[in-house]
Amino acid sequence: MRAAHSVYNHIVVGAGSAGCAVTRRLVDAGRSVLLVETGGRDDNPAIHDPGRLWELWNSPQDHAYITEPQRHADETQVLWPRGKVLGGSSALNGMIYVRGHCSDYDGWADRYGAKGWSYDEVLPYFKRSEDFEDGPSDFHGADGPLPVTRNHDPNPVTSAFMAACEEYGIPYNDDCNAEEILGVNLLHRTIRDGRRVSSWTAFVEPVRASPRLTVRTGALVTRVLVEGGRAVGVELLRGGRTETVRCSGDVILSAGTIGSAQILLLSGIGPADELRALGIGVTADLPGVGRNLHDHTLTPVVWESVRDIPAGTANKLEAHYFAKTDPALSAPDLQPLMSHVPLPVAGQTVPDEGHGYTVLAGTIRPLSRGRLWLRSADPAQAPALDPNHFAEPSDLAAMVEAVKQVREIGSQRALEGWRSREIAPGPGVRADGEIAAYLKRNLLSYHHQVGTCRMGSGPEAVVDPRLSVYGVAGLRVADASVIPAVTSGNTHAPAVMIGERCADFVLGGHP
Ligand SMILES: Cc1cc2nc3c(=O)[nH]c(=O)nc-3n(C[C@H](O)[C@H](O)[C@H](O)COP(=O)(O)OP(=O)(O)OC[C@H]3O[C@@H](n4cnc5c(N)ncnc54)[C@H](O)[C@@H]3O)c2cc1C
Repeated sequence: MRAAHSVYNHIVVGAGSAGCAVTRRLVDAGRSVLLVETGGRDDNPAIHDPGRLWELWNSPQDHAYITEPQRHADETQVLWPRGKVLGGSSALNGMIYVRGHCSDYDGWADRYGAKGWSYDEVLPYFKRSEDFEDGPSDFHGADGPLPVTRNHDPNPVTSAFMAACEEYGIPYNDDCNAEEILGVNLLHRTIRDGRRVSSWTAFVEPVRASPRLTVRTGALVTRVLVEGGRAVGVELLRGGRTETVRCSGDVILSAGTIGSAQILLLSGIGPADELRALGIGVTADLPGVGRNLHDHTLTPVVWESVRDIPAGTANKLEAHYFAKTDPALSAPDLQPLMSHVPLPVAGQTVPDEGHGYTVLAGTIRPLSRGRLWLRSADPAQAPALDPNHFAEPSDLAAMVEAVKQVREIGSQRALEGWRSREIAPGPGVRADGEIAAYLKRNLLSYHHQVGTCRMGSGPEAVVDPRLSVYGVAGLRVADASVIPAVTSGNTHAPAVMIGERCADFVLGGHP
Protein backbone atom coordinates (compact mmCIF):
# COMPACT_ATOMS: atom_id res chain seq x y z
CA MET A 1 0.00 0.00 0.00
CA ARG A 2 1.24 3.49 -0.87
CA ALA A 3 0.37 6.32 1.51
CA ALA A 4 -0.05 9.66 -0.23
CA HIS A 5 0.96 12.53 2.02
CA SER A 6 -0.73 15.37 0.19
CA VAL A 7 -3.45 16.86 2.32
CA TYR A 8 -6.48 18.47 0.74
CA ASN A 9 -9.17 20.45 2.49
CA HIS A 10 -11.80 18.08 1.13
CA ILE A 11 -12.17 14.84 -0.75
CA VAL A 12 -15.27 14.45 -2.91
CA VAL A 13 -15.96 10.87 -4.04
CA GLY A 14 -17.84 10.64 -7.35
CA ALA A 15 -17.92 13.18 -10.19
CA GLY A 16 -21.65 12.86 -10.88
CA SER A 17 -24.64 15.17 -10.71
CA ALA A 18 -24.15 16.13 -7.07
CA GLY A 19 -20.39 15.62 -6.71
CA CYS A 20 -19.56 18.10 -9.46
CA ALA A 21 -21.82 20.76 -7.91
CA VAL A 22 -20.22 20.34 -4.46
CA THR A 23 -16.75 20.41 -5.94
CA ARG A 24 -17.33 23.58 -7.92
CA ARG A 25 -18.74 25.52 -4.98
CA LEU A 26 -15.93 24.44 -2.66
CA VAL A 27 -13.24 25.34 -5.19
CA ASP A 28 -14.91 28.72 -5.81
CA ALA A 29 -14.87 29.32 -2.06
CA GLY A 30 -11.10 28.83 -1.94
CA ARG A 31 -10.96 25.26 -0.65
CA SER A 32 -8.59 22.69 -2.10
CA VAL A 33 -10.47 19.64 -3.32
CA LEU A 34 -9.55 16.18 -4.50
CA LEU A 35 -12.33 14.82 -6.72
CA VAL A 36 -12.07 11.04 -7.09
CA GLU A 37 -13.96 9.19 -9.85
CA THR A 38 -13.83 5.50 -10.65
CA GLY A 39 -14.76 6.11 -14.30
CA GLY A 40 -12.66 7.87 -16.92
CA ARG A 41 -12.78 11.04 -18.98
CA ASP A 42 -15.91 11.92 -20.94
CA ASP A 43 -14.23 11.44 -24.32
CA ASN A 44 -16.84 9.11 -25.86
CA PRO A 45 -18.46 11.34 -28.55
CA ALA A 46 -21.86 9.68 -27.90
CA ILE A 47 -21.95 11.37 -24.48
CA HIS A 48 -22.06 14.79 -26.09
CA ASP A 49 -24.53 14.02 -28.86
CA PRO A 50 -28.02 13.99 -27.29
CA GLY A 51 -29.36 11.73 -30.04
CA ARG A 52 -26.95 8.92 -29.12
CA LEU A 53 -28.17 8.44 -25.56
CA TRP A 54 -28.94 4.74 -25.83
CA GLU A 55 -25.49 3.89 -27.20
CA LEU A 56 -24.11 4.69 -23.76
CA TRP A 57 -25.92 1.89 -21.97
CA ASN A 58 -23.65 -1.11 -21.40
CA SER A 59 -20.75 0.97 -22.72
CA PRO A 60 -17.46 1.35 -20.77
CA GLN A 61 -18.99 4.51 -19.28
CA ASP A 62 -21.83 2.54 -17.69
CA HIS A 63 -21.72 0.58 -14.41
CA ALA A 64 -24.60 -1.42 -15.97
CA TYR A 65 -26.07 -2.83 -12.78
CA ILE A 66 -28.86 -5.35 -12.85
CA THR A 67 -31.42 -5.89 -10.10
CA GLU A 68 -32.24 -9.06 -8.28
CA PRO A 69 -35.16 -10.98 -9.85
CA GLN A 70 -38.29 -9.02 -8.89
CA ARG A 71 -40.55 -11.44 -7.06
CA HIS A 72 -43.66 -9.33 -7.53
CA ALA A 73 -42.89 -8.90 -11.24
CA ASP A 74 -42.47 -12.41 -12.61
CA GLU A 75 -38.81 -12.54 -11.55
CA THR A 76 -37.87 -9.89 -14.11
CA GLN A 77 -34.40 -8.42 -13.62
CA VAL A 78 -34.22 -4.73 -14.45
CA LEU A 79 -31.20 -3.10 -16.10
CA TRP A 80 -29.91 -0.11 -14.14
CA PRO A 81 -27.44 1.93 -16.18
CA ARG A 82 -25.38 4.31 -14.00
CA GLY A 83 -22.69 6.69 -15.20
CA LYS A 84 -19.09 5.59 -14.71
CA VAL A 85 -17.37 8.62 -16.13
CA LEU A 86 -16.75 12.29 -15.37
CA GLY A 87 -20.31 13.61 -15.10
CA GLY A 88 -21.61 10.36 -13.59
CA SER A 89 -25.17 9.56 -14.52
CA SER A 90 -25.64 13.08 -15.87
CA ALA A 91 -23.29 12.04 -18.70
CA LEU A 92 -25.65 9.30 -19.84
CA ASN A 93 -29.08 10.43 -18.67
CA GLY A 94 -32.02 11.64 -20.76
CA MET A 95 -31.09 15.33 -20.15
CA ILE A 96 -34.57 16.05 -18.78
CA TYR A 97 -34.63 18.88 -16.25
CA VAL A 98 -37.49 18.40 -13.76
CA ARG A 99 -37.58 19.34 -10.09
CA GLY A 100 -40.76 17.59 -8.95
CA HIS A 101 -43.72 18.72 -6.87
CA CYS A 102 -43.47 21.15 -3.96
CA SER A 103 -45.11 18.58 -1.67
CA ASP A 104 -42.16 16.21 -2.25
CA TYR A 105 -39.80 18.52 -0.38
CA ASP A 106 -42.37 19.54 2.21
CA GLY A 107 -42.83 15.81 2.83
CA TRP A 108 -39.09 15.30 3.37
CA ALA A 109 -39.20 17.97 6.06
CA ASP A 110 -42.51 16.99 7.69
CA ARG A 111 -42.53 13.21 7.44
CA TYR A 112 -38.88 12.25 7.50
CA GLY A 113 -37.39 14.84 9.81
CA ALA A 114 -35.34 16.53 7.09
CA LYS A 115 -35.65 19.94 8.69
CA GLY A 116 -34.69 22.77 6.40
CA TRP A 117 -35.58 20.92 3.17
CA SER A 118 -39.11 22.21 2.56
CA TYR A 119 -39.83 23.47 -0.95
CA ASP A 120 -39.40 27.11 0.01
CA GLU A 121 -36.03 26.27 1.51
CA VAL A 122 -34.69 24.30 -1.46
CA LEU A 123 -36.01 26.57 -4.22
CA PRO A 124 -33.15 29.10 -3.88
CA TYR A 125 -30.66 26.29 -4.52
CA PHE A 126 -32.42 25.13 -7.68
CA LYS A 127 -32.32 28.71 -8.88
CA ARG A 128 -28.68 29.16 -7.91
CA SER A 129 -27.50 26.32 -10.12
CA GLU A 130 -29.69 27.19 -13.10
CA ASP A 131 -29.18 29.22 -16.26
CA PHE A 132 -32.70 29.11 -17.68
CA GLU A 133 -33.09 30.36 -21.22
CA ASP A 134 -36.25 32.37 -20.39
CA GLY A 135 -34.29 34.38 -17.83
CA PRO A 136 -34.83 34.83 -14.10
CA SER A 137 -38.22 34.64 -12.40
CA ASP A 138 -39.74 33.59 -9.08
CA PHE A 139 -39.03 29.99 -10.00
CA HIS A 140 -35.94 30.20 -12.20
CA GLY A 141 -32.38 31.35 -12.05
CA ALA A 142 -30.32 32.56 -14.98
CA ASP A 143 -26.84 33.07 -13.51
CA GLY A 144 -25.97 29.50 -12.60
CA PRO A 145 -23.60 27.07 -14.33
CA LEU A 146 -26.31 24.61 -15.48
CA PRO A 147 -28.03 25.55 -18.75
CA VAL A 148 -31.71 24.63 -18.96
CA THR A 149 -33.14 25.09 -22.43
CA ARG A 150 -36.38 24.62 -24.27
CA ASN A 151 -36.97 22.61 -27.42
CA HIS A 152 -37.93 24.99 -30.24
CA ASP A 153 -38.05 22.40 -32.96
CA PRO A 154 -40.03 19.37 -31.79
CA ASN A 155 -40.60 16.31 -33.89
CA PRO A 156 -44.03 16.57 -35.60
CA VAL A 157 -45.20 13.32 -34.00
CA THR A 158 -44.30 14.79 -30.59
CA SER A 159 -46.47 17.83 -31.38
CA ALA A 160 -49.31 15.48 -32.38
CA PHE A 161 -48.89 13.59 -29.10
CA MET A 162 -49.17 16.83 -27.13
CA ALA A 163 -52.33 17.73 -29.04
CA ALA A 164 -53.68 14.23 -28.25
CA CYS A 165 -53.02 14.83 -24.55
CA GLU A 166 -55.02 18.06 -24.69
CA GLU A 167 -57.79 16.34 -26.64
CA TYR A 168 -57.92 13.69 -23.91
CA GLY A 169 -58.16 16.40 -21.23
CA ILE A 170 -54.62 16.94 -19.99
CA PRO A 171 -53.93 20.66 -20.03
CA TYR A 172 -50.92 22.27 -21.66
CA ASN A 173 -48.46 23.52 -19.05
CA ASP A 174 -45.75 25.81 -20.31
CA ASP A 175 -43.48 25.29 -17.30
CA CYS A 176 -43.56 22.14 -15.18
CA ASN A 177 -40.73 23.59 -13.06
CA ALA A 178 -42.89 26.37 -11.69
CA GLU A 179 -45.87 26.44 -9.36
CA GLU A 180 -47.96 23.73 -11.06
CA ILE A 181 -46.47 20.56 -12.54
CA LEU A 182 -49.71 19.01 -13.83
CA GLY A 183 -50.09 18.99 -17.63
CA VAL A 184 -48.21 18.25 -20.82
CA ASN A 185 -45.20 20.10 -22.12
CA LEU A 186 -42.04 19.89 -24.15
CA LEU A 187 -39.21 18.91 -21.88
CA HIS A 188 -36.81 21.37 -20.35
CA ARG A 189 -33.37 20.01 -21.11
CA THR A 190 -29.75 20.28 -20.03
CA ILE A 191 -28.65 20.76 -23.63
CA ARG A 192 -26.87 23.80 -25.07
CA ASP A 193 -26.06 24.38 -28.72
CA GLY A 194 -27.13 20.84 -29.54
CA ARG A 195 -24.76 19.26 -27.01
CA ARG A 196 -25.39 17.55 -23.68
CA VAL A 197 -24.29 19.55 -20.67
CA SER A 198 -23.43 17.14 -17.87
CA SER A 199 -22.72 18.17 -14.32
CA TRP A 200 -19.04 17.83 -15.13
CA THR A 201 -19.18 20.14 -18.16
CA ALA A 202 -21.41 22.64 -16.34
CA PHE A 203 -19.72 22.81 -12.96
CA VAL A 204 -16.18 21.46 -12.97
CA GLU A 205 -14.75 21.72 -16.46
CA PRO A 206 -14.76 25.56 -16.30
CA VAL A 207 -12.52 25.44 -13.18
CA ARG A 208 -10.48 22.41 -14.26
CA ALA A 209 -7.27 24.47 -14.35
CA SER A 210 -7.67 25.78 -10.81
CA PRO A 211 -4.62 25.01 -8.65
CA ARG A 212 -7.07 24.18 -5.86
CA LEU A 213 -8.61 21.29 -7.81
CA THR A 214 -7.16 17.82 -8.30
CA VAL A 215 -9.18 15.28 -10.27
CA ARG A 216 -8.26 11.63 -10.13
CA THR A 217 -10.04 9.32 -12.58
CA GLY A 218 -9.91 5.53 -12.74
CA ALA A 219 -9.75 5.47 -8.93
CA LEU A 220 -12.18 3.27 -7.03
CA VAL A 221 -12.71 4.43 -3.46
CA THR A 222 -12.79 1.28 -1.36
CA ARG A 223 -13.43 2.77 2.08
CA VAL A 224 -13.42 5.87 4.22
CA LEU A 225 -10.56 6.15 6.70
CA VAL A 226 -11.95 6.81 10.16
CA GLU A 227 -9.67 7.66 13.10
CA GLY A 228 -11.02 8.38 16.56
CA GLY A 229 -14.58 8.60 15.23
CA ARG A 230 -13.64 11.13 12.51
CA ALA A 231 -13.26 10.65 8.76
CA VAL A 232 -9.74 11.68 7.76
CA GLY A 233 -9.50 10.46 4.17
CA VAL A 234 -10.19 7.56 1.86
CA GLU A 235 -8.54 4.42 0.61
CA LEU A 236 -8.61 3.96 -3.14
CA LEU A 237 -7.63 1.42 -5.74
CA ARG A 238 -5.99 2.76 -8.86
CA GLY A 239 -4.05 0.88 -11.50
CA GLY A 240 -3.97 -2.22 -9.27
CA ARG A 241 -2.43 -0.28 -6.35
CA THR A 242 -4.03 0.70 -3.09
CA GLU A 243 -3.42 4.26 -1.87
CA THR A 244 -4.63 6.31 1.02
CA VAL A 245 -5.41 9.99 0.65
CA ARG A 246 -6.08 12.31 3.56
CA CYS A 247 -7.85 15.62 3.95
CA SER A 248 -8.11 18.21 6.70
CA GLY A 249 -11.85 18.83 6.36
CA ASP A 250 -14.92 16.86 5.41
CA VAL A 251 -14.94 13.75 3.23
CA ILE A 252 -18.00 13.96 0.97
CA LEU A 253 -19.45 10.83 -0.58
CA SER A 254 -21.23 11.66 -3.85
CA ALA A 255 -20.92 8.21 -5.37
CA GLY A 256 -24.65 7.90 -6.00
CA THR A 257 -27.44 5.76 -4.58
CA ILE A 258 -25.47 2.57 -5.17
CA GLY A 259 -21.89 3.76 -4.73
CA SER A 260 -22.28 5.81 -1.55
CA ALA A 261 -24.13 3.06 0.33
CA GLN A 262 -21.57 0.53 -0.88
CA ILE A 263 -18.65 2.65 0.38
CA LEU A 264 -20.30 3.20 3.76
CA LEU A 265 -20.87 -0.54 4.17
CA LEU A 266 -17.30 -1.36 3.12
CA SER A 267 -16.17 1.19 5.72
CA GLY A 268 -18.03 -0.62 8.48
CA ILE A 269 -20.85 1.92 8.57
CA GLY A 270 -24.16 0.10 8.34
CA PRO A 271 -26.18 -2.70 9.95
CA ALA A 272 -23.70 -4.19 12.45
CA ASP A 273 -24.87 -7.80 12.18
CA GLU A 274 -24.69 -7.82 8.37
CA LEU A 275 -21.23 -6.27 8.42
CA ARG A 276 -19.89 -8.76 10.96
CA ALA A 277 -21.27 -11.64 8.89
CA LEU A 278 -19.07 -10.44 6.03
CA GLY A 279 -16.04 -10.01 8.26
CA ILE A 280 -16.17 -6.21 8.13
CA GLY A 281 -15.30 -4.43 11.39
CA VAL A 282 -18.08 -2.15 12.64
CA THR A 283 -17.30 1.56 12.74
CA ALA A 284 -20.87 2.77 13.25
CA ASP A 285 -24.01 0.67 13.59
CA LEU A 286 -26.41 2.38 11.18
CA PRO A 287 -29.20 -0.03 10.24
CA GLY A 288 -30.57 2.27 7.53
CA VAL A 289 -27.59 2.04 5.16
CA GLY A 290 -28.81 0.28 2.02
CA ARG A 291 -32.45 0.26 3.15
CA ASN A 292 -35.24 2.33 1.56
CA LEU A 293 -33.99 1.64 -1.98
CA HIS A 294 -36.66 2.66 -4.48
CA ASP A 295 -37.10 3.78 -8.05
CA HIS A 296 -39.70 4.89 -10.58
CA THR A 297 -40.87 2.38 -13.18
CA LEU A 298 -41.73 2.54 -16.88
CA THR A 299 -43.17 0.26 -19.52
CA PRO A 300 -43.38 0.92 -23.29
CA VAL A 301 -46.54 1.36 -25.34
CA VAL A 302 -45.46 1.24 -28.99
CA TRP A 303 -47.26 2.19 -32.20
CA GLU A 304 -46.37 1.64 -35.82
CA SER A 305 -46.72 4.80 -37.90
CA VAL A 306 -48.49 5.23 -41.23
CA ARG A 307 -45.77 7.51 -42.53
CA ASP A 308 -42.10 8.19 -41.96
CA ILE A 309 -41.18 9.94 -38.75
CA PRO A 310 -38.27 12.38 -39.11
CA ALA A 311 -35.16 11.72 -37.03
CA GLY A 312 -35.60 14.85 -34.93
CA THR A 313 -33.16 17.54 -33.98
CA ALA A 314 -32.05 16.69 -30.47
CA ASN A 315 -32.60 13.91 -27.95
CA LYS A 316 -35.17 11.24 -28.54
CA LEU A 317 -37.25 12.18 -25.52
CA GLU A 318 -39.12 15.40 -26.20
CA ALA A 319 -42.37 15.59 -24.24
CA HIS A 320 -43.94 14.29 -21.05
CA TYR A 321 -47.03 14.90 -18.99
CA PHE A 322 -47.92 14.84 -15.33
CA ALA A 323 -51.36 13.46 -14.43
CA LYS A 324 -53.26 11.87 -11.56
CA THR A 325 -54.79 8.38 -11.50
CA ASP A 326 -57.35 9.85 -9.10
CA PRO A 327 -58.41 13.51 -9.21
CA ALA A 328 -58.54 13.51 -5.40
CA LEU A 329 -54.76 13.04 -5.17
CA SER A 330 -52.88 16.10 -3.91
CA ALA A 331 -50.18 15.70 -6.56
CA PRO A 332 -49.69 13.85 -9.86
CA ASP A 333 -48.63 10.21 -9.69
CA LEU A 334 -48.02 9.63 -13.41
CA GLN A 335 -45.30 10.99 -15.69
CA PRO A 336 -45.46 9.25 -19.08
CA LEU A 337 -42.75 10.12 -21.55
CA MET A 338 -42.98 10.43 -25.33
CA SER A 339 -40.27 9.17 -27.65
CA HIS A 340 -40.52 9.50 -31.41
CA VAL A 341 -38.74 6.19 -31.88
CA PRO A 342 -40.10 2.65 -31.35
CA LEU A 343 -38.44 1.11 -28.31
CA PRO A 344 -37.75 -2.62 -28.01
CA VAL A 345 -40.31 -4.91 -26.39
CA ALA A 346 -39.60 -8.41 -25.03
CA GLY A 347 -40.72 -11.11 -27.45
CA GLN A 348 -42.23 -8.71 -30.00
CA THR A 349 -40.96 -7.27 -33.25
CA VAL A 350 -41.12 -3.49 -33.34
CA PRO A 351 -40.68 -1.38 -36.50
CA ASP A 352 -37.37 0.22 -37.41
CA GLU A 353 -36.62 3.76 -36.32
CA GLY A 354 -38.62 6.21 -38.42
CA HIS A 355 -41.61 3.87 -38.58
CA GLY A 356 -43.02 3.93 -35.09
CA TYR A 357 -43.16 5.79 -31.78
CA THR A 358 -43.40 5.02 -28.09
CA VAL A 359 -45.01 6.44 -25.02
CA LEU A 360 -43.39 5.14 -21.87
CA ALA A 361 -46.11 4.73 -19.27
CA GLY A 362 -44.56 5.75 -15.96
CA THR A 363 -45.52 6.24 -12.34
CA ILE A 364 -43.79 8.56 -9.90
CA ARG A 365 -45.14 7.97 -6.40
CA PRO A 366 -44.09 4.41 -5.56
CA LEU A 367 -44.68 3.06 -2.07
CA SER A 368 -42.62 -0.13 -2.46
CA ARG A 369 -39.25 -0.08 -0.77
CA GLY A 370 -36.36 -2.50 -1.18
CA ARG A 371 -32.72 -2.61 -0.23
CA LEU A 372 -29.11 -2.87 -1.29
CA TRP A 373 -26.63 -5.18 0.40
CA LEU A 374 -23.04 -6.31 -0.04
CA ARG A 375 -22.49 -9.75 -1.49
CA SER A 376 -18.97 -9.78 -0.06
CA ALA A 377 -16.31 -7.52 1.39
CA ASP A 378 -14.72 -7.23 -2.08
CA PRO A 379 -15.10 -3.58 -3.21
CA ALA A 380 -14.93 -4.64 -6.87
CA GLN A 381 -18.06 -6.77 -6.55
CA ALA A 382 -21.32 -4.95 -7.28
CA PRO A 383 -23.78 -4.97 -4.40
CA ALA A 384 -27.11 -6.78 -4.62
CA LEU A 385 -29.95 -4.44 -5.63
CA ASP A 386 -33.57 -5.20 -4.84
CA PRO A 387 -36.04 -2.33 -5.30
CA ASN A 388 -38.84 -4.79 -4.44
CA HIS A 389 -41.05 -3.41 -7.20
CA PHE A 390 -44.80 -3.89 -6.71
CA ALA A 391 -44.44 -5.19 -3.15
CA GLU A 392 -47.17 -2.62 -2.57
CA PRO A 393 -50.04 -3.65 -4.88
CA SER A 394 -51.06 0.00 -5.39
CA ASP A 395 -47.80 0.53 -7.35
CA LEU A 396 -48.80 -2.14 -9.85
CA ALA A 397 -52.34 -0.78 -10.05
CA ALA A 398 -50.96 2.70 -10.84
CA MET A 399 -48.80 1.26 -13.63
CA VAL A 400 -51.81 -0.52 -15.13
CA GLU A 401 -53.75 2.77 -15.02
CA ALA A 402 -50.80 4.52 -16.67
CA VAL A 403 -50.81 2.04 -19.56
CA LYS A 404 -54.58 2.40 -20.00
CA GLN A 405 -54.38 6.18 -20.01
CA VAL A 406 -51.47 6.23 -22.45
CA ARG A 407 -53.40 3.94 -24.82
CA GLU A 408 -56.42 6.27 -24.61
CA ILE A 409 -54.24 9.23 -25.47
CA GLY A 410 -52.65 7.27 -28.29
CA SER A 411 -56.06 6.63 -29.83
CA GLN A 412 -57.09 10.31 -29.99
CA ARG A 413 -57.86 11.99 -33.31
CA ALA A 414 -54.81 14.25 -33.07
CA LEU A 415 -52.58 11.22 -33.77
CA GLU A 416 -54.66 9.91 -36.67
CA GLY A 417 -52.17 11.16 -39.23
CA TRP A 418 -49.41 9.12 -37.58
CA ARG A 419 -50.99 6.05 -36.00
CA SER A 420 -51.13 2.84 -37.98
CA ARG A 421 -51.60 0.25 -35.21
CA GLU A 422 -50.59 -0.46 -31.65
CA ILE A 423 -47.71 -2.94 -31.61
CA ALA A 424 -47.31 -3.31 -27.84
CA PRO A 425 -48.93 -4.31 -25.58
CA GLY A 426 -51.05 -5.04 -28.71
CA PRO A 427 -54.77 -5.56 -29.29
CA GLY A 428 -54.82 -8.96 -27.56
CA VAL A 429 -53.87 -7.38 -24.23
CA ARG A 430 -56.96 -5.72 -22.75
CA ALA A 431 -57.91 -6.90 -19.26
CA ASP A 432 -56.11 -5.40 -16.28
CA GLY A 433 -54.49 -8.75 -15.50
CA GLU A 434 -53.16 -9.01 -19.05
CA ILE A 435 -51.78 -5.48 -18.89
CA ALA A 436 -50.14 -6.26 -15.55
CA ALA A 437 -48.54 -9.41 -17.02
CA TYR A 438 -47.25 -7.39 -20.00
CA LEU A 439 -45.74 -4.65 -17.93
CA LYS A 440 -44.07 -7.06 -15.51
CA ARG A 441 -42.34 -8.70 -18.49
CA ASN A 442 -41.43 -5.29 -19.88
CA LEU A 443 -40.52 -3.56 -16.67
CA LEU A 444 -38.05 -0.72 -17.19
CA SER A 445 -36.36 1.60 -14.78
CA TYR A 446 -37.04 5.33 -14.97
CA HIS A 447 -33.47 5.48 -13.58
CA HIS A 448 -34.40 7.42 -10.46
CA GLN A 449 -32.95 5.15 -7.78
CA VAL A 450 -32.78 6.89 -4.41
CA GLY A 451 -32.94 6.45 -0.68
CA THR A 452 -30.12 4.13 0.50
CA CYS A 453 -28.54 6.75 2.79
CA ARG A 454 -31.76 8.39 3.86
CA MET A 455 -31.63 11.89 5.31
CA GLY A 456 -33.62 12.93 8.37
CA SER A 457 -34.31 11.46 11.77
CA GLY A 458 -35.42 8.10 13.16
CA PRO A 459 -33.79 4.67 13.40
CA GLU A 460 -33.27 4.27 9.63
CA ALA A 461 -31.84 7.73 9.00
CA VAL A 462 -28.23 7.65 7.81
CA VAL A 463 -27.46 11.37 7.50
CA ASP A 464 -28.82 14.33 9.41
CA PRO A 465 -30.41 17.31 7.64
CA ARG A 466 -26.94 18.83 7.16
CA LEU A 467 -25.96 15.63 5.34
CA SER A 468 -23.54 14.49 8.07
CA VAL A 469 -23.37 10.74 8.65
CA TYR A 470 -24.69 9.87 12.10
CA GLY A 471 -21.93 8.66 14.39
CA VAL A 472 -18.94 9.63 12.21
CA ALA A 473 -17.60 13.18 12.34
CA GLY A 474 -16.33 14.85 9.18
CA LEU A 475 -18.24 12.57 6.80
CA ARG A 476 -21.13 13.71 4.61
CA VAL A 477 -23.17 12.12 1.87
CA ALA A 478 -24.42 14.36 -0.94
CA ASP A 479 -26.24 12.67 -3.81
CA ALA A 480 -29.53 11.00 -4.66
CA SER A 481 -28.98 8.37 -1.95
CA VAL A 482 -30.02 10.82 0.78
CA ILE A 483 -33.47 11.41 -0.75
CA PRO A 484 -35.94 9.96 1.77
CA ALA A 485 -38.82 9.60 -0.72
CA VAL A 486 -38.29 10.00 -4.44
CA THR A 487 -39.43 13.25 -5.99
CA SER A 488 -42.31 13.34 -8.48
CA GLY A 489 -40.12 13.46 -11.54
CA ASN A 490 -36.60 13.01 -12.76
CA THR A 491 -33.80 13.14 -10.22
CA HIS A 492 -30.85 14.96 -11.80
CA ALA A 493 -32.01 18.45 -10.79
CA PRO A 494 -32.71 17.32 -7.20
CA ALA A 495 -29.26 15.68 -7.01
CA VAL A 496 -27.60 18.90 -8.18
CA MET A 497 -29.61 20.85 -5.61
CA ILE A 498 -28.40 18.46 -2.89
CA GLY A 499 -24.81 19.06 -4.03
CA GLU A 500 -25.35 22.83 -3.86
CA ARG A 501 -26.74 22.54 -0.33
CA CYS A 502 -23.92 20.29 0.83
CA ALA A 503 -21.34 22.86 -0.20
CA ASP A 504 -23.15 25.47 1.90
CA PHE A 505 -23.25 23.16 4.91
CA VAL A 506 -19.52 22.52 4.56
CA LEU A 507 -18.80 26.22 4.18
CA GLY A 508 -21.21 27.13 6.96
CA GLY A 509 -23.04 29.69 4.85
CA HIS A 510 -26.39 30.34 3.24
CA PRO A 511 -27.32 31.25 -0.33
C1 LIG B 1 -29.89 6.14 -18.20
C2 LIG B 1 -30.33 7.23 -17.26
C3 LIG B 1 -31.24 8.18 -17.69
C4 LIG B 1 -31.66 9.17 -16.81
N1 LIG B 1 -32.41 10.20 -17.28
C5 LIG B 1 -32.62 11.28 -16.49
C6 LIG B 1 -33.16 12.48 -17.01
O1 LIG B 1 -33.41 12.59 -18.22
N2 LIG B 1 -33.36 13.50 -16.16
C7 LIG B 1 -33.08 13.43 -14.84
O2 LIG B 1 -33.33 14.38 -14.09
N3 LIG B 1 -32.55 12.31 -14.32
C8 LIG B 1 -32.27 11.26 -15.12
N4 LIG B 1 -31.63 10.18 -14.63
C9 LIG B 1 -31.32 10.15 -13.20
C10 LIG B 1 -30.20 11.10 -12.81
O3 LIG B 1 -29.25 11.20 -13.84
C11 LIG B 1 -29.57 10.60 -11.52
O4 LIG B 1 -30.56 10.52 -10.51
C12 LIG B 1 -28.47 11.51 -11.03
O5 LIG B 1 -27.51 11.69 -12.03
C13 LIG B 1 -27.84 10.92 -9.78
O6 LIG B 1 -26.82 11.77 -9.37
P1 LIG B 1 -25.84 11.34 -8.22
O7 LIG B 1 -24.95 12.49 -7.97
O8 LIG B 1 -26.62 10.77 -7.11
O9 LIG B 1 -25.01 10.10 -8.80
P2 LIG B 1 -24.23 9.88 -10.16
O10 LIG B 1 -24.46 11.01 -11.11
O11 LIG B 1 -24.55 8.53 -10.63
O12 LIG B 1 -22.70 9.98 -9.74
C14 LIG B 1 -22.04 9.02 -8.97
C15 LIG B 1 -20.59 8.96 -9.44
O13 LIG B 1 -19.82 8.28 -8.46
C16 LIG B 1 -18.92 7.40 -9.10
N5 LIG B 1 -18.60 6.34 -8.14
C17 LIG B 1 -19.41 5.38 -7.68
N6 LIG B 1 -18.76 4.59 -6.80
C18 LIG B 1 -17.49 5.08 -6.71
C19 LIG B 1 -16.34 4.69 -5.96
N7 LIG B 1 -16.37 3.66 -5.11
N8 LIG B 1 -15.19 5.39 -6.13
C20 LIG B 1 -15.15 6.45 -6.98
N9 LIG B 1 -16.23 6.86 -7.72
C21 LIG B 1 -17.38 6.18 -7.57
C22 LIG B 1 -19.72 6.90 -10.30
O14 LIG B 1 -18.87 6.33 -11.28
C23 LIG B 1 -20.42 8.17 -10.74
O15 LIG B 1 -19.64 8.91 -11.64
C24 LIG B 1 -31.19 9.18 -15.47
C25 LIG B 1 -30.26 8.24 -15.05
C26 LIG B 1 -29.82 7.27 -15.93
C27 LIG B 1 -28.79 6.29 -15.46
